[in-house]
Amino acid sequence: MKLIFEKGKTGRGCDILPPCDVPAVKLPGSVSRKTPARLPGADENEISRHYWSLAKRSFGINDGFYPLGSCTMKYNPKINEELASLPGFADIHPLQPLHTIEGCTEILRTAADCLNEISGMDAMSFQPAAGAHGEFAGLLLFKAYHKIRGGNARKKIIIPDSAHGTNPASAAMAGFEVVNIPSGKDGCVDLAELKKAVGPDTAGLMLTNPNTLGIFDPNILEITETIHKAGGLNYYDGANLNAIMGLVRPGDMGFDAVHLNLHKSFSTPHGGGGPGLGALGCKKLLAPFMPLSGYGLSGREYPAGEQQQAGDQSIGRIRSFWGNFLVAVRAAAYILTLGKENIPEAARNAVLNANYMMERLREKIPPVLDGPCMHEFVISLEELKNRTGVSALDFAKALQDFQSQDFKIHPPTMYFPLIVKEALMIEPPETESKETIDTAVEVFLRLIDRANENPGSLKAAPEKTVIGRPDETRAARQPVLRYMFDR
Ligand SMILES: *Cc1c(COP(=O)(O)O)cnc(C)c1O
Repeated sequence: MKLIFEKGKTGRGCDILPPCDVPAVKLPGSVSRKTPARLPGADENEISRHYWSLAKRSFGINDGFYPLGSCTMKYNPKINEELASLPGFADIHPLQPLHTIEGCTEILRTAADCLNEISGMDAMSFQPAAGAHGEFAGLLLFKAYHKIRGGNARKKIIIPDSAHGTNPASAAMAGFEVVNIPSGKDGCVDLAELKKAVGPDTAGLMLTNPNTLGIFDPNILEITETIHKAGGLNYYDGANLNAIMGLVRPGDMGFDAVHLNLHKSFSTPHGGGGPGLGALGCKKLLAPFMPLSGYGLSGREYPAGEQQQAGDQSIGRIRSFWGNFLVAVRAAAYILTLGKENIPEAARNAVLNANYMMERLREKIPPVLDGPCMHEFVISLEELKNRTGVSALDFAKALQDFQSQDFKIHPPTMYFPLIVKEALMIEPPETESKETIDTAVEVFLRLIDRANENPGSLKAAPEKTVIGRPDETRAARQPVLRYMFDR
């Protein structure tokens, strides 16, 4: 497929800008271009076809079943898109005077109140643009908290080895030292290892519960208490809240701060590269340190342009303006539509779907852990690989070929969590029907049979996709991210 720069003709284009309605400003020579920008010379038809055919080459939630574990790819009500595109929300300017956007600040307050209620926190900030950004900001709160107490020696953040990769990365970026602790045989935190790791240098713990194996840690209260007793704080990675929203609250589990990926669990599509929002919540004791433009108990309602006041303990601004506001609009719409009764119902359905699929697969692919799972589960193809040579990668690639007019499937998450060999991590979210899950199960089981009968055929997969097997190392190490002009 040609790139957009290779299409059309120099000089052609589709200049459909409206006439300028403000005085034109002549930029000083030092900042103006010396040569004209090299824009693609494609007309509107070509541009439209180009992006349409690009879209058809990708796989999204509108194409088919998307059981990507630790990512929550679910159906998000389209009506919330419509709400978010209302002119009163979509066409405002970040520097507009506060009194002209009171409806919008009211939405933020509503979303904050609801999310505080759901997570058991006291204050909520919509500044972080992603889950990882929320983790980073949350850890800056920990840092500020310890600093004020003279706890600068608290440099260590304890993270179990089943954690999402962003956890250690955020801790390192916030200037902490990461202490990894191994999980027990049950996939949960090994309490003895945790107790060995805590000490006067402990700044805190980062944990996701249910963890990335899909297991709810039964010792959660003892875990968070162990950290508190040592003078540390607990951070809850709430990227995927599907399993517990409306049922259990991180605040009640003993966590002091949390981020919620509104772009996973609260009605903004995730994974499309669009704007995200990793809402950062915290308990009272951390509220004074919240980023500017937070809502909730701290009463921070800084207009977009306002600077930090002297004596203010806030970690400051971590993003421009109001954050990705429209994501908060969708979250508020989603929560208010579902209400107190149906938020827990959605969580129960996520757990039911995952357990149903896990049980149906069991005859040929037993899960890594016994017992019920939460919203996702992990299988290992280690035994299959040892016997037939078919790896989790081969299996995932072969799944891509299993497309029909009526059923399409995206492979699950591969090789994660890192503690399971040949892992496939499966999450059939709450919005999938029994029929869809049944069909997916049939596909998985048929593919296992094929791996046993004709392993070679999986090695050759995928054959029906636009790209077969790219050189993943080269793609990661030597990415070509921009068009190289040859003139
Ligand atoms: C997705 C995810 C994150 C990171 O969120 P981003 O928005 O991608 O930065 C962190 N932890 C867990 C468990 C996740 O699933």
